[in-house]
Amino acid sequence: MDLVQQNLNKIKKEVGESVLVVAVSKTKSIESIKKAYEIGHRDFGENKIQEMTSKFNALPKDINWHMIGHIQTNKVKYLAPYVSLIHSLDSLKLAKEINKQAVKNNRVIECLIQYKISSDETKFGLNENEIMEILDLENDFEGIKITGLMGMASFVDNKNIIENEFKKLKVLFDKIKYSNKKFNIISMGMTMDYNLAIKNGSNVIRVGSKIFGERNG
Ligand SMILES: *Cc1c(COP(=O)(O)O)cnc(C)c1O
Repeated sequence: MDLVQQNLNKIKKEVGESVLVVAVSKTKSIESIKKAYEIGHRDFGENKIQEMTSKFNALPKDINWHMIGHIQTNKVKYLAPYVSLIHSLDSLKLAKEINKQAVKNNRVIECLIQYKISSDETKFGLNENEIMEILDLENDFEGIKITGLMGMASFVDNKNIIENEFKKLKVLFDKIKYSNKKFNIISMGMTMDYNLAIKNGSNVIRVGSKIFGERNG
């Protein structure tokens, strides 16, 4: 069996059926994605709209495409026809544009709001007040359905720091879920920290290098 297939099977077995593995295929070839597809995997994550769209065009149409990277509003129109889940809703302006393009395509696009849990300055994401503001306006957006939160922990070795950031996301998730039945997705955890993320409530992990190998650059 191919290495990509071995890696993926191992992770899926390890995390069990209650956790969705999004195979992060950014920078990786169509051939590598096909290997994962051949063993039944259907969920793939990309962080660039252009790259995701060309892969969408080249691959079978029953793949669920996850957008996990920062989105420029002027590019939403390219992914609106086919994207399965947007993990990186990070502004009201973007929510309005996704809504507009979803309506144009006769779709309701499922989104997660990206919560800024890391103190890392370079990371995108919103604070609690900004998240609440978008959720308060959600009823105005017939083209989007917000079903949870996504978060990225700091790039540090200290597991306590990472775990505290995951816990922070879970606390806000539970607070929102209390009065919002649609809320059911916690997208947190990558190659280095998915076990810790699952321990802290994650049910969607985004794993790239541990499946497809290290990326160059
Ligand atoms: C690249 C990326 C991942 C996967 O990273 P790995 O460390 O390769 O597992 C997960 N989430 C986001 C948002 C990413 O950009």
